[in-house]
Amino acid sequence: MTGRSTQLFAAAQKRIPGGVNSPVRALRNVGGEPFFVERARGSRVWDVDGREYIDYVGSWGPAILGHAPKVVVDAVQAVAERGLSFGIPNPFEVELAELICEWMPSIEKIRMVNSGTEAAMSCLRLARGFTARDKIIKFDGCYHGHADSLLVQAGSGALTHGRPDSAGVPKSFADLTISLPFNNIDLVRKTFIENKDEIAAIILEPIPANAGLYFPENNFLSSLRDECTKHGALLIFDEVMTGFRVARGGAQQIFGVKPDLTVLGKVIGGGLPVGAFGGRAEIMDRLSPDGPVYQAGTLSGNPLAMVAGLSQLRELERIDGWKLLEDLGAQFEQLARAAVAKTKIELTFHRIGSMFCLFFCSGPIVDLTGAKRSDLKRFTRFFHACLERGVYFAPSQFETGFISTAHTTDDISRTAEIVGEALRSL
Ligand SMILES: *Cc1c(COP(=O)(O)O)cnc(C)c1O
Repeated sequence: MTGRSTQLFAAAQKRIPGGVNSPVRALRNVGGEPFFVERARGSRVWDVDGREYIDYVGSWGPAILGHAPKVVVDAVQAVAERGLSFGIPNPFEVELAELICEWMPSIEKIRMVNSGTEAAMSCLRLARGFTARDKIIKFDGCYHGHADSLLVQAGSGALTHGRPDSAGVPKSFADLTISLPFNNIDLVRKTFIENKDEIAAIILEPIPANAGLYFPENNFLSSLRDECTKHGALLIFDEVMTGFRVARGGAQQIFGVKPDLTVLGKVIGGGLPVGAFGGRAEIMDRLSPDGPVYQAGTLSGNPLAMVAGLSQLRELERIDGWKLLEDLGAQFEQLARAAVAKTKIELTFHRIGSMFCLFFCSGPIVDLTGAKRSDLKRFTRFFHACLERGVYFAPSQFETGFISTAHTTDDISRTAEIVGEALRSL
């Protein structure tokens, strides 16, 4: 007898390319088929065949309070009664803009869009418009959504599926994107000299989390800040993943480096489609209608998305979510490291707050080349061993795990036991 997920996936493949609306969901690189979700609450997801999973994907980041948190669902329901979208300003847009500017002081003005991709794409256009330069520097393995000029040596699904450079991206666009290894400041300096007065911006994930998870080395971010200032380029932090997850003020607060522009998404939408980009007022004022850089959106700032984000962020602050996430993360790290110590397999465990990643190779891992040393066959067996035992980790080595405030200490210790069992089964 075939399960309902299998039937649905067969039907989906007839009408949706690959059966999915975002490639990594197809589980191609780990083999097998995706499960279809019936419902989710807190730390748990149930599939249409009645199986229960402890979830560490969290909708790929947004579900920081766990699934269907009551405060967010109640707020969305109440607002929905009064209309879904107006295409003319509503008060929640102002409230969310004020909250984000307060939490992330490098942001003086902000514009809402509908996805992280849209935010990064618009942010680059603004940087080019502001500096009147065309080239950008990005880093191998960093993912900034699927806008044309950003799909060069990109992470996440683009990496998982082995096509770092997408078909359909004009060569002339890709030529304007210079991709460098992360944590190599000498190459950044050299690139600035070789492309004098041509670099509009450096865009990066301050904590790269789309090629597994690794960290900026001492002074890397502050050196990028210095180089950008020296050469008249803008520094753009893509905090779609880290924004309001690693700290109340994002990664920029942790490292004490102030970007010119910041890209946000995921957590700020409370599970609804939201992205945003913001920064220095002088730059943001170049956007239409004040300035010449065009950017627009029919559903941007709609009340449902704004209120979902607002209620999620306020709740996070009310319960001191970052402390909770750090405690749960630390518990998981301690137990996972103990499980790892009992095996002979080469492993590297990385964590910051509620974000974590287990690489199947020895460290140190400081860039994409390091991350790619991971034994992907082992990862695949590990992924399935965990899934069979009811723990859902991201179905790719080149992703990051997320703990939510809805995970309990029991969830964490159960998960660590399963990780131990899974490692022993390899
Ligand atoms: C997920 C992600 C994006 C893209 O956001 P979407 O909402 O999927 O378009 C951009 N940058 C980073 C760092 C991300 O993690």
